[in-house]
Amino acid sequence: MKILMVSSEAIPFAKTGGLSDMVTALSLSLAKLGHEVKIVLPRYYSIDRGTQQLVPGAMGVPMGGGEEWSAVYTAPLPGSKEKNPVQVYFIDHEIYFGRDGIYGVPSEPDFIDNPRRFSFFCRAVFQLCRKISWFPDVLHAHDWPAAMAPVYLKFAERVSGSLGGFEKTASVFTIHNLGYQGIYSKDNFDYTGLGWDVFYNAGFEDAGMLNLLKAGLYSADKLNTVSPNYAEETKTQAHGFRLDGVLRYRSADYTGILNGIDTGIWNPMKDKYISAHFSAKNMAGKAKVKEELQKEFGLPQDSSAPLVGMVTRLTGQKGVGELFGPTYGSAWAICREMNLQMVLLGSGEAWCENEVLSLASRLSNFKAVIGFDEKLSHLIEAGSDFFLMPSRYEPCGLNQMYSLAYGTLPIVRRTGGFVDTIENYNEATGGGTGFMFDNLSPVSIYNTVGWAVWAWYNCREHIEAMRTRAMKLDFSWEKSAAKYVELYDDARTAVFGKTGNSGSGTAASDIFS
Ligand code: ADP
Repeated sequence: MKILMVSSEAIPFAKTGGLSDMVTALSLSLAKLGHEVKIVLPRYYSIDRGTQQLVPGAMGVPMGGGEEWSAVYTAPLPGSKEKNPVQVYFIDHEIYFGRDGIYGVPSEPDFIDNPRRFSFFCRAVFQLCRKISWFPDVLHAHDWPAAMAPVYLKFAERVSGSLGGFEKTASVFTIHNLGYQGIYSKDNFDYTGLGWDVFYNAGFEDAGMLNLLKAGLYSADKLNTVSPNYAEETKTQAHGFRLDGVLRYRSADYTGILNGIDTGIWNPMKDKYISAHFSAKNMAGKAKVKEELQKEFGLPQDSSAPLVGMVTRLTGQKGVGELFGPTYGSAWAICREMNLQMVLLGSGEAWCENEVLSLASRLSNFKAVIGFDEKLSHLIEAGSDFFLMPSRYEPCGLNQMYSLAYGTLPIVRRTGGFVDTIENYNEATGGGTGFMFDNLSPVSIYNTVGWAVWAWYNCREHIEAMRTRAMKLDFSWEKSAAKYVELYDDARTAVFGKTGNSGSGTAASDIFS
């Protein structure tokens, strides 16, 4: 199959979160299965044009009231095989993308022209295909910045009277986080070049505003999100961010497919960022990495103290209010009252960055680095004993899968993808792979960290068994990629009828098997 990924992020070119890891890993896995995959990204300022090839000739993109002109650059995706490379195309538009920041900068976290930037980007995707004379069987769009792509496909490209080429293209849209929807003034709508009938028919309308994600959810042929449990949760009012009704309406076309992890990068046996390697059979290296981590953060190199790690965006979704809230957060009590060490790497909301730094200055067993640091994130995943993620909601969550792979037991709230990937500790049998709580509150976090620390000191054999169990779980992308192939087939069948076998595998077995 020919598959075009439309995304605002893909490692190593642009990353703010898990979406970026997923797009790259899924593309590589699909290529390994023999599919022809291309990715299209904006050419942000930080992406060096010097290492890319210019696709000759400027490209005109029809937008409301005229035409935008852009250049196109291309490069193979690092890690892809020469035989069947994943080619990445970059839409280069100086006014929209020639600036710092992907969605915004600290002084303007959501650029005022984001609806224009990303509408243009999505429309450019179609012109790009014409330019390179390559038309996908499936257009796979990710999150609100790419939500206009299935809308354009359905209402402007796969219709009679269009410039043609997309008559046989189906669309799949993946929700990575329903909390971000791209809601803007409807004054921006004229710029999309679509008629106002489409504003209503495609579901843009949202309480007098323009909702890009909502239109994508109405327009794509098939929808999915990144874990089965989150797919169910998002159909409820509690987790639906006001779009639960839309998702219930589309439930026949809406599924959950668990993300995998890139086991070439996140692998305790060959991780290039850590100085010692280890496996479920030989854990000696983990003790060394723990020492390295303690040294890095200036903590006493004490193997007996349980080390709790965190790598996170410092934003409400991640439960940081309940953990670091100045008057009520439980981090202070956890570190003061429990015999443990804690390290954090993260960046995000200013109040939280300040609070974290303030705590670190007052507590000898809590250390923090504010910033984004790939190497340090590997060191924390590998060297910690526990990994804390008290998320309010978690569509899939990658960090808990990384930590399981490194025998670092997650402490999490029972929500979203955590339910699909972690089995709660059972102190009677020693079963499980992590520690879970239900209500997001400072006291629940306190109690559950306390429970893990208790097990560390009192049931050490349980901890060792849980580690082994966690490290044996299979989160590789192969299974999930096969499920995406099925979804692509379903999308094509839904629009065009039976298309014949495109080589998808059978349903992947449960990760715990
Ligand atoms: P989300 O996408 O909601 O942020 P995930 O757990 O799905 O959460 O993915 C987060 C990804 O971003 C992981 O790969 C994680 O290691 C990485 N990450 C988050 N914050 C940082 C940071 N400060 N430094 C390095 N990596 C980070």
